Amino acid sequence: MTILNTSFKTPYQTAPFSKIKNEDYLPAFLQAIKEAKAEIDAITNNSEAPSFENTIEALDFSGERLDRISSIFFNLNSAETNDEIQKIAQEVSPLLSEFSNDITLNKSLFKRVKVVYDTKDALDLTTEQKTLLDKKYKGFSRNGANLTDDKKTRLREIDKKSSQLKLKFGENVLAETNAFEMHLTNEEDLAGLPEGAKEAAQQLAEAQEKKGWLITLDYPSYIPFMTYATNRELRKKLAIAAGTKAFKGNELDNQDNVLQIAKLRHERANLLGYKTHAHFVLEERMAKKPETVQHFLNELLEKAKPAAEREFKNLEDFAKDSDGIDQLQKWDGSYYSEKLKQKLFSLDDEQLKPYFKLENVIDGAFTIAERLYDLKFEEIDTIDKYHEDVLTYKVTDLKGNLVSIFYADFFPRAGKRNGAWMTVYKPQFVKNEENSRPHISIVCNFTKPTKSKPSLLTFNEVTTLFHEFGHALHGILANTTYPSLSGTSVFWDFVELPSQVLENWCYEKEALELFATHYETGELIPMELIKKIKASATFHEGMQTLRQISFGLLDMSWHGQDPTSISSVKAHESEVFKNTKLYPDVAENCMSTAFSHIFQGGYSSGYYSYKWAEVLDADAFEYFLEEGVFSKEVAKKFKDHVLSQGGIEDPMTLYKRFRGKEPQPEALLKRAGLI
Ligand SMILES: [Zn+2]
Repeated sequence: MTILNTSFKTPYQTAPFSKIKNEDYLPAFLQAIKEAKAEIDAITNNSEAPSFENTIEALDFSGERLDRISSIFFNLNSAETNDEIQKIAQEVSPLLSEFSNDITLNKSLFKRVKVVYDTKDALDLTTEQKTLLDKKYKGFSRNGANLTDDKKTRLREIDKKSSQLKLKFGENVLAETNAFEMHLTNEEDLAGLPEGAKEAAQQLAEAQEKKGWLITLDYPSYIPFMTYATNRELRKKLAIAAGTKAFKGNELDNQDNVLQIAKLRHERANLLGYKTHAHFVLEERMAKKPETVQHFLNELLEKAKPAAEREFKNLEDFAKDSDGIDQLQKWDGSYYSEKLKQKLFSLDDEQLKPYFKLENVIDGAFTIAERLYDLKFEEIDTIDKYHEDVLTYKVTDLKGNLVSIFYADFFPRAGKRNGAWMTVYKPQFVKNEENSRPHISIVCNFTKPTKSKPSLLTFNEVTTLFHEFGHALHGILANTTYPSLSGTSVFWDFVELPSQVLENWCYEKEALELFATHYETGELIPMELIKKIKASATFHEGMQTLRQISFGLLDMSWHGQDPTSISSVKAHESEVFKNTKLYPDVAENCMSTAFSHIFQGGYSSGYYSYKWAEVLDADAFEYFLEEGVFSKEVAKKFKDHVLSQGGIEDPMTLYKRFRGKEPQPEALLKRAGLI
């Protein structure tokens, strides 16, 4: 028996990090899977007739220990991993997917779920219970549980073939990315590049025992070159190489894979009774229907296009004046855009950083949460942590009741992956009339303090901290009955609302006054700097918006209609881009063949959600602006109808209850300076 298989006798039942040994994990997983299986068997073998309680509710509360062990293990695999942990992950992952497949394919379990589902109107269920029932039923039906045996067989064939094609798609993109390099031996060819980018290029060359500099299609190499290199011919060469990925007619070409993936997805959707793949996907999204997404993208396009065209004209003039460029090309965009931005704003990180000492920013975020949501954050040293850098807090309400445990892990180290994220060590739920409170964590990679300097954040890091803290509040304030509907368990075109909306406070005078003071002099950040930050944040927003819309439309064009008649990927794409194009087309380039988001990752019929989430957050924040950024009344509505509600109801219903109306794009367009 390992520590993980006992109930944690720790303060607040927090994870006993210091007592877990790596060799504990595998036996603990095996034991917990066995327990979870026994719980499922108890549901299917129940001699009583299926009811909401003995089937749906029992299913949602099953596997609690397995979930806790998984969350501890996989969170550490992201934040504090090592070879041994990674090896265990490789052993455990197939066991876990086998276990979840066994549930989805369990016929007698589905039979019971279906009995409850088919009699749902006669049952006296709460809104949350109805949502849970629907979610559990769909978990089976969307995987073919209702199909005849031969259709089921076809579905499995499609799934198998699709995952092979997606894998191949990704491998081709990666191989094409790695196959190209631009070897430069004349230092003049690197003119314009910042020192850091030059050094990196030199190191790449050294690693291959080559003289000079190497530029590749990996973003950390590609982006600085396209943004800063003055040599136009070389930018052109690099841009064309990037745009030609998996579109050369060689063995790494993805055209056929794109067509096959789109067609198989369509067939799968049809098998399950949906008109298109987008209909299938969007059923479980806030947007609900392809028509809504199309309308959303087209409306935004119509409103953003004039601004985008204006910006493009300005950029053309600027490039003409600066270097006599007659026809602005794709490989000129980032370069002149950056030059123009520098000319207009001359804003650099070093100017801002002294005003954003990490400790001050954290306190600022806590104060904002206190003023809006009556939460108190108190640092505690009575619970275990997995690394000495981790900060631990007890979060209480005004009466001193425990609301949540909160972990914050800010600095990079070997064993932590890049980026920033929010995660859950223990979900919130209500069982036996007891509200079991959540354990929430945020993990970032900010600059570490040195002997002489504290950790000073760039403005981008400040907004990142607020973003993750916004997700954390969604978890901290969760107040639902069922764990699978709690906190951030919402449709994914809704999940970025709490995080993105909180970023808005970083630009508000009233909020900055709480924390943006110089770490040495205590002077408050000058407001001209804030104005500059705001203005530069929306620089070329029209063109950016147009670009995002074009990707969203391309995604919908592959998934929102029957793709069987499409024979040329390039011709199809050109048709779709007709209304969003600013630069001349490059004949040898293709977007779809390297559009990994939608053909390899999970974004098919979901690319629109980037803009969708922005519309939501701008619209929600506008309500705060109308009533005051610290309006208790608006904050209460946001907490009562959004932050505490998880996924217990349709997000549009929740949103309307908060806002009093459906979200409109006007607030975003206004914030972005487009109208
Ligand atoms: Zn996020």
